[in-house]
Amino acid sequence: MSKAQMPRQKHVPQRMCIACRMTQGKREFVRIVRTPEGEVRIDPTGKLAGRGAYLHKSRDCWDQALSGQRLNTALKMTVTPENLATLKAYAATLPVVVATD
Ligand SMILES: [Zn+2]
Repeated sequence: MSKAQMPRQKHVPQRMCIACRMTQGKREFVRIVRTPEGEVRIDPTGKLAGRGAYLHKSRDCWDQALSGQRLNTALKMTVTPENLATLKAYAATLPVVVATD
């Protein structure tokens, strides 16, 4: 009774970048977490507890997210200047690439 379903890649959970809003496998992203203490952390393991947001491993996406309200909106908080500085320092280590698929 249902339409034929398109085959999907089942093994890679999909995540959406909060900057460019492209959806890809989670390996393409860096997770940022709002911890229960209200701190913002970069979460390379993807295992920290808290509300998470995802950004491409691309300085372009980080600059976009950190320069506006995207990150605050995604985390439902106002990121402190200290945390923002940490995120910007991390972003500066990322390559300037636009993710293409
Ligand atoms: Zn992106």
